Amino acid sequence: MSLVISEELRNFLLTLLPERLDLLLEHYAKPLPETFRVNTLKTSVERCLQLLREDGVEPRPIPWTRHGFYAEPQGIVSTSIWHLLGLVYIQGPVSMLVSETLEVEPGHRVLDLCAAPGSKSTHIAQLLGGKGLLVSNDVSRTRVKALSSNLQRCGVVNVVVTLADGRWFGNRVKGFFDRVLVDAPCSSLGIGMKDWSVLKHYSQRISQRISRLQKSLIFSGFKALRPGGIMVYATCTLHPLENEAVVAELLEKFDDASLVDIATLGLEHDRGLEEWDGLFFGSEMRKTIRIYPFQSGAEGFFMAKIVKKESG
Ligand code: SAM
Repeated sequence: MSLVISEELRNFLLTLLPERLDLLLEHYAKPLPETFRVNTLKTSVERCLQLLREDGVEPRPIPWTRHGFYAEPQGIVSTSIWHLLGLVYIQGPVSMLVSETLEVEPGHRVLDLCAAPGSKSTHIAQLLGGKGLLVSNDVSRTRVKALSSNLQRCGVVNVVVTLADGRWFGNRVKGFFDRVLVDAPCSSLGIGMKDWSVLKHYSQRISQRISRLQKSLIFSGFKALRPGGIMVYATCTLHPLENEAVVAELLEKFDDASLVDIATLGLEHDRGLEEWDGLFFGSEMRKTIRIYPFQSGAEGFFMAKIVKKESG
């Protein structure tokens, strides 16, 4: 089977990455590397790596995350008993930077607004180290089942799983959380290698429609954040309407929202766009990051790290 992308997607990508389009298409056609995170709620990194080496795995550290590794040869970790027992979690390498960026500390109250199936929630839980509170929410009943089972498998106890529209939180739990993650639903153009049909059927209408929901979710998440708290907005897509446009609108609507730089720790990336296709997002957007599959050798992501200013 060969990779087919829709005409609209090709046209859009030509406005975004005219010189790097072929590189992106080449990476869409490649499989993702197998990467995993050691779940320190259940084991230590040393012990876990020892068990995996006995199974014939050669783990190699992922530089930008404390507990993440590439696995060679592929297919052993994901089918191992250690995975079933929750000692490891299979997760993309760039996805692991999202929870690291949130600067979670034991004792924090953390809201994960769009949490299923739980890659980042289980990561946040391990950074909490069993202290504090994690609220893991998702709107999808079927996906919440997977979320609950992953949290259980990973031995997370200080978590409340909720099944609600993320837009509900902002006005009900204003200023309650030290950390908020909005890992928003998106058009998934950064992970096209996982499902080529996304690329074949993509139309710009998808990004336009989903951008409205993303704006409501980021506003809701920001309201739930306490002054001085940190929020991360992330997507696994490349479209500016779902990324910079969403963050720019947050900055415009809330005077107490500001962007801060993200520590990328060796992960190659582009800075966020100040403008695209006649739309102006502002110079602050250079503090956000875009990671393309040809830079990470894995998923494409967008991330923004937002701080709520203390009053006075
Ligand atoms: N954070 C997850 C992880 O790391 O495993 C992945 C989240 S996925 C990118 C986006 C999620 O948003 C989906 O699970 C979807 O069901 C959820 N979602 C869509 N609309 C939502 C809404 N209005 N409120 C809350 N969650 C929503």
